[in-house]
Amino acid sequence: MKTLTLLREGNALASPAEQLKILSDENRIPAGTFESKLAESQLPPLLRSTLTTLQINLGKVCNQTCTHCHVDAGPDRKESMSAEVANQVIDFLSRSQVETLDITGGAPEMNPHFRRLVEAAVERGKRVIDRCNLTILLANGFTDLPEFLARNQVTITASLPCYLEENCDSQRGEGVYEKSIRAIRRLNELGYGHPNSGLELNLVFNPTGTGLPPDQAALERDYRTQLRDRHGLEFNHLFTITNMPISRFLADLLEQGKYELYMHKLLESFNPATVNEVMCRSLVSVDWEGYLYDCDFNQMLDLPLKSGNTRLHISELTEEILLNRPIETANHCLGCTAGAGSSCSGNLT
Ligand code: SF4
Ligand code: SF4
Repeated sequence: MKTLTLLREGNALASPAEQLKILSDENRIPAGTFESKLAESQLPPLLRSTLTTLQINLGKVCNQTCTHCHVDAGPDRKESMSAEVANQVIDFLSRSQVETLDITGGAPEMNPHFRRLVEAAVERGKRVIDRCNLTILLANGFTDLPEFLARNQVTITASLPCYLEENCDSQRGEGVYEKSIRAIRRLNELGYGHPNSGLELNLVFNPTGTGLPPDQAALERDYRTQLRDRHGLEFNHLFTITNMPISRFLADLLEQGKYELYMHKLLESFNPATVNEVMCRSLVSVDWEGYLYDCDFNQMLDLPLKSGNTRLHISELTEEILLNRPIETANHCLGCTAGAGSSCSGNLT
């Protein structure tokens, strides 16, 4: 119970430093660490490779409050990227060879600079991914978003943790499933999810409990059959993602007394074949203030990229300073290397 008090005060989560302290507490998981698993497999510590993806987190403002949210996002949050930082992102897109702008949040579409960032990236020949919660496409003031996204050929990657209403709503809130189905139908009408339309719609599954995701290809087949038969819906790919033991999900694990069980499951399922493929090798994550991290999870744990004691900022980013740079790791990384592996684009093997 002491840990729980540390992690949650009322509805607010405790600091990233306290979360990291729990994650590195050897008394809780004596069986090993992320680093010891690498060493057992004769793998060196993680190093960055060539940068291909700039992932920007536009902030914590969201129209939903999902139970597993690693961003701790919601309607009452105020953190949101400013015009100045958005301009610095666009400057980096102009001066770099990065191929993809991956936009996340919160609900990134609620940031006032979202559309400008999309258009600037497209003008510079970048592929754009919108990590969309679907329900925002039906919210007041946002109903023209599907046309905007289609016009700019933005890839939509959207959470739908189950094809069954009850399971989806238990994780994402009452009524979310029904709205998500309506939003997918609207996207399908515009061509999203249909082969050869050039408009890619990918869905994301993450487990509702403490299990690891099932086989991605088999689950994709089930989703396709179920969504077609029940609702006549189409999508391109299903990505399975492991729940990371941070933020709201970590607090829930501790509250339910399942933290140790979950961490042991991640340790036992460590898969050396995933290590070279983890997304932090080719992606850099930018927070709403412009500071840099190896990934969005490190952003939530406040493990920044630094030069000496100074945090690195998008305004000074070059591809060269990232190449071969050591990656900041801790035990939450076991979430990326368990089973078939996990990343923002699904499994790794
Ligand atoms: S929609 Fe996404 S960002 Fe918003 S609360 Fe849910 S998981 Fe978090
Ligand atoms: S949590 Fe982040 S830093 Fe750790 S392995 Fe996954 S992507 Fe890399």
